[in-house]
Amino acid sequence: MALMDSKVWAGSVFSDGWTASRAGNAPVIEPATGSEMARVGVAGPEDVAAAAVSASKAQRDWAAASFEERAAVLRRAGQLFEEHAEEIQGWLIRESGAIAGKAGFETHVAAGECYEAAALASQSPGEILPTAKKRLSLARRVPVGVVGVIAPFNAPLILGIRSVAPALALGNAVVFKPDPRTAVCGGVAIARVFEEAGLPSGVLHMLPGGPEAGEALVADPNIPVISFTGSTAAGRKIGEVCGRLLKRVHLELGGNSALVVLDDVDLDRAVSAGAWGSFFHQGQICMTTGRHLVHASIKDEYVERLAAKAAAMRVGNPAVEDVALGPLIDTHQRDKVHGLVVESVESGARLVTGGAYEHLFYRPTVLTDLTPQAPAYAQEVFGPVAPVVAFSTPEEAAALARASEYGLSLGILTRDVMKGLALADLIPTGIVHINDQTVDDEAVAPFGGLGASGTGARFGGGRANTEAFTHTQWVTMQRDVAGYPF
Ligand code: NAD
Repeated sequence: MALMDSKVWAGSVFSDGWTASRAGNAPVIEPATGSEMARVGVAGPEDVAAAAVSASKAQRDWAAASFEERAAVLRRAGQLFEEHAEEIQGWLIRESGAIAGKAGFETHVAAGECYEAAALASQSPGEILPTAKKRLSLARRVPVGVVGVIAPFNAPLILGIRSVAPALALGNAVVFKPDPRTAVCGGVAIARVFEEAGLPSGVLHMLPGGPEAGEALVADPNIPVISFTGSTAAGRKIGEVCGRLLKRVHLELGGNSALVVLDDVDLDRAVSAGAWGSFFHQGQICMTTGRHLVHASIKDEYVERLAAKAAAMRVGNPAVEDVALGPLIDTHQRDKVHGLVVESVESGARLVTGGAYEHLFYRPTVLTDLTPQAPAYAQEVFGPVAPVVAFSTPEEAAALARASEYGLSLGILTRDVMKGLALADLIPTGIVHINDQTVDDEAVAPFGGLGASGTGARFGGGRANTEAFTHTQWVTMQRDVAGYPF
C-alpha cells in the first residue's frame, strides 16, 4: 500500500489512530490551481486537550522502553522517508508549491533528522559528578514529558520533523500541530511514517489546526515544553504566555538576512548565489536573503545581472512544468508581498524587474535605490523580492547588516575569507556562511537565531537537541539512610 493513501487519513487527525476530530475537517488546496486535493481533519482546543492527556500517559512507557527500541523506530522512520520520498515529494510539490528540488531537499533532510535522532537515543544520558560525601552523585538528562510542536507552511516537513524526531528519540511524547495549509505534506506524512515505523499508539499526536489549536497547545497543563517555528508576531505572543505559565519554549522566528557582496568577487557566481538566496521557494524561507548589501563599485553591474537572471526565470505550476519558482502559498501572502513592493516603490525605490503577478505566481523582483525605511528592505517580505543597497566600506556594510531587529542568517561573499570572518564578527547572527548565500540547513548543524529571530535556543547538531528536549536531574545514591544530628 502507498504510504500516503488517502483512504487511511482522509478527514481525520492522528490521535490514538486516525480519528474524526471534534472540530471537523477542511479542504486541502493546491495553490497552483486552487483545486481541492483532499480533506483533512482539523483540530480544535478540545482535541488538543484530549491528545495531551493521552500523550502524557503513553510517554511513561515510551520513556521506559530501551534505547534500542526507540532508536529502531527512528531508524525505520528514516528508511520510510527514503523509500516513500517520491510519494511525499508529490504532496510537497502540489500542496506547498515547492519545485522538485526543494521537495527532494525536504525528504532528504527529514530522513537525516530521523537517523540523527536514532543516534541520539544511545548517547550517554549524563555524567558522574564529584561529591564530598560517600555516595554516588550523577547528573542525568531525563525526558521533559510531552513536547508541543507548532510548525509553519513554508518548509513544512523539515520544520516539523526537526523537533518531532529528536523529541521522540529522547523519550518524550509529542503533540504536533502543522499549519492547516500544509497539513498533508507537513503533518500526515510524518504521522504515517511513525505509524508504519511502529511507534506505540498515543506517543505522537498530529493535529492540523489554526492559531486557536496552537494557543490551546501552548497553554495546556500537560505540555511542559513548546517548540514553535513561525512568525515573530506569533512567537512574541507564545513567549508571553509561556513566561506567565513558567513553561520552557523554543522560538524559531522570522528573519531579514543580509548577503554582503565585497568588491573582489566573481560577479556571476555572486549574482547566482544572490538569486538563489532571494528566490528559492519563492522567498518563503526564514533565512531568505532579504537584503543584498553590495560594494558600491560593483552594485550597478550586480543589479543589472541579477535583474536579467530574474527576468529569465520561469514561474509556474511545478507539478506540470519545469519552473524555477512555484506559487506563493495563498492570496493573503501574495497581497502582503505585493503591498510591500508597491509601498517601497512609492517611497522612492526603483523597480528593476518583477513587481507583478498572475494568480499566486509572483515574478522574481529586484528593487534598488531603497531608503533604509523602505518596507521591502526594512521588513521580512516572505516573497521573491531582492532589494539591493550599496555600501562603501566594510564598516558601513556591518552597520547596515546590523541595523535590523532580526539575527538569523548572514552570507558574506569575498575572495578574502579571513576578511569575511572579521566582518562576520561585527554582525550578531545565529548562522554565518562565508562564500555562500543565507539559505541552508543540515540535520547535523545547530540552527537558530538571535533577537527577533528567536530566543537563542538551538535545534540540530552538537548537544542542541538534547538540551532542547530533556532536562537535567541531579541524582544521589548511598548505601544507608543518611545520619543527622537531630
Ligand atoms: P505564523 O506564525 O502565522 O504561523 C506558524 C504556525 O503557528 C502555524 O502552524 C500557525 O497555525 C501557528 N500559530 C499562529 N498564531 C499562533 C498563536 N497565537 N499561538 C499558537 N500557534 C499559532 O507564521 P507564517 O507567517 O504562517 O509562517 C512564516 C513565518 O515563519 C515567517 O516569519 C518565517 O520567517 C518564519 N519561519 C521561521 C523559521 C525558523 O526556523 N526561524 C523557519 C520557517 C519559518
